[in-house]
Amino acid sequence: RIVVAGSANMDLVGLAQRLPRPGETVLGDDFVMTPGGKGANQAIAAARAGGACTMLGAIGSDAFGVTIKARLNASGVDTEHLRTSYGASGVAVIMVDRAGENAILVSPGANSTFAGLSAAESAVIAEGDVLLCQQEIPSDTVVAAVRAARSAGTRVILNAAPARELPPELRECVDLLVVNEGEAVAITGTPEPDLAALLALVPRVVLTLGAHGSRYADRDGRDERIPAFAVDAVDSTAAGDAFTGALAVAWGEGRDLVAAVRWANAAGAVCARTVGASGSLPARADIDALYAR
Ligand code: ADP
Repeated sequence: RIVVAGSANMDLVGLAQRLPRPGETVLGDDFVMTPGGKGANQAIAAARAGGACTMLGAIGSDAFGVTIKARLNASGVDTEHLRTSYGASGVAVIMVDRAGENAILVSPGANSTFAGLSAAESAVIAEGDVLLCQQEIPSDTVVAAVRAARSAGTRVILNAAPARELPPELRECVDLLVVNEGEAVAITGTPEPDLAALLALVPRVVLTLGAHGSRYADRDGRDERIPAFAVDAVDSTAAGDAFTGALAVAWGEGRDLVAAVRWANAAGAVCARTVGASGSLPARADIDALYAR
C-alpha cells in the first residue's frame, strides 16, 4: 500500500488572452475548477497507476472539500483517514494566458491545519509499503510522517516540491528523493543540478528532466540516464505528479528502481500528451501500453 501524506486543494483556473497587471481587471475566456495539490494529485496518480493508496491530509468544511474528497474516492483513493478541518479548503487561484504563462496564488487553508499526527494516522503509515510526501503541508508534519515511516520500516519517497532546504531530521529518514532540475538547484544551492551534492543528503535520487526523461543515482555508485518516451506532448501540467505517483507504485511492487523510473517516465509521458491537470493522470493500462511500445 502507498500512503500519501500531503496537500489537497481546489484549483480555480481562469484562462485569458493576457494576465492582468496589479489593479487591473481583464475579461477572461474559459474557467475550469479541478481538484489539485501535489498530495491529492500524486495519490490519484498512484491509484490510477494500479496502487492501493491511502491519502492523509486535511480538507476544509466547505463545498470544495466535499468535491476534493469525492474526486479522490472516485479515483480509488482511500480517504477514511483524511481530516476535515472547520473552515476553508486549500485553494489555488491560477491565471493562464494565451502563451501558457501563468500566475498562481495558493491559499493553504485546511492544509496548514494538518499537524500533530494522530495514532491512527501513524498506524496507517506504519502499515504502508511506501510513504510519499511533498512539501505543501507544514514541515513539522512531513518530519513526523517520515519518522513514523522510518521507525516502522516503511520506505520513504520525498518529492521535495516546493523546494526548500532539507533539515537533517528530514533527510535522514528519506530513502528516495524525487526532484526536478529547479528543485535540485534550490536544495543544494549549486548553479546546476549536482547529484553528488544531493547524494550527500539522501541515499537515492531521481532527477526528472521533462522531455529528456530522468536520471537515477544512488550511493552504491549507480548513475543512469533513463530516456523519455517520445510522445506528442501538449501539456506537461501534472506530469511530475503522474511520474512520482507511478514511481511509488512500481517501487512498492518491488521493481528495481531503474525499471521503476522507466515505467514512471511512461506515466509522465502519457500525462503530457493529454491536456489537463489531475484529470490527465494516466491509468495503468495506458502506462503499460506506452511502456511496451
Ligand atoms: P515537473 O512537472 O515536476 O517539472 P517534469 O517536467 O520533469 O516534472 O516531468 C516529469 C516526467 O514526466 C519526466 O521525467 C518525463 O519522464 C515525463 N515527461 C514530462 N514531459 C514530457 C514530454 N514532453 N515528453 C515525454 N515525457 C515527458
